[in-house]
Amino acid sequence: MAPTKEDFAVLLRLQKADKDLDALRAKIAEVPEDVAAIRLEIEEESGKHAAVYAKSREVQARKKDRENSMAQKEELIRKHQRDLNQVKSNEAFKALLKEIDDEKAAVGDLETVILELMDEAEAVRKEEAGIKAQIDGFVKEREGHIAELEAKKTDLENELAQWEEGRRKIFDSLPADLAAFYDKTRERRAGVGVSQLKENTCSECKMTQPPQAVVNVKKGIVIVTCDSCQRILVLAEGAPA
Ligand SMILES: [Zn+2]
Repeated sequence: MAPTKEDFAVLLRLQKADKDLDALRAKIAEVPEDVAAIRLEIEEESGKHAAVYAKSREVQARKKDRENSMAQKEELIRKHQRDLNQVKSNEAFKALLKEIDDEKAAVGDLETVILELMDEAEAVRKEEAGIKAQIDGFVKEREGHIAELEAKKTDLENELAQWEEGRRKIFDSLPADLAAFYDKTRERRAGVGVSQLKENTCSECKMTQPPQAVVNVKKGIVIVTCDSCQRILVLAEGAPA
């Protein structure tokens, strides 16, 4: 079926619909990328907890170690106190008493260290709680943003379905061979299958068209393609016929 002038005007509308559709699809495609970027932010933020957690474990380990040492010293003191009864010489008795005194002093030192470590553990615990609250707040805010983006994506997808339906109607109103040729050209020419002829020039590639092509485009009864970019030439909107 030979195309009419009206068909070429419709073709221009189809081209516009496709351009809008492409922009909408690009917008939808951005959402998963944005979500992935936010998930990475969440992961990085959550990683902040690891350092303070490691510190907390390290303080606990040091405290445990000192407690074990203290228990060993106390055990030794008890043993040496029992040994006092079996000692025969005065010198040996005095030496053992001295040892017990030293051990008691060591226990006292360890007690001090353990108390300090308890304070340190408490400080770390507070720090940990602070960081956790900060992370939780951040994660909550970012998760909220993700939910917003996903809701927006759903809206856009619904919009896309409507636009696609509109596009299909325009497409179906065209002669089948013209519509098919348009689709093929659009596919080959980076999504743009139609070019407006403005002052005898292809508006896509800026190539001046031969006079016969210009005449044919103005008549609008045959398909004319640009010699240079191969797009379907259509008389520019508002141009004198
Ligand atoms: Zn061209």
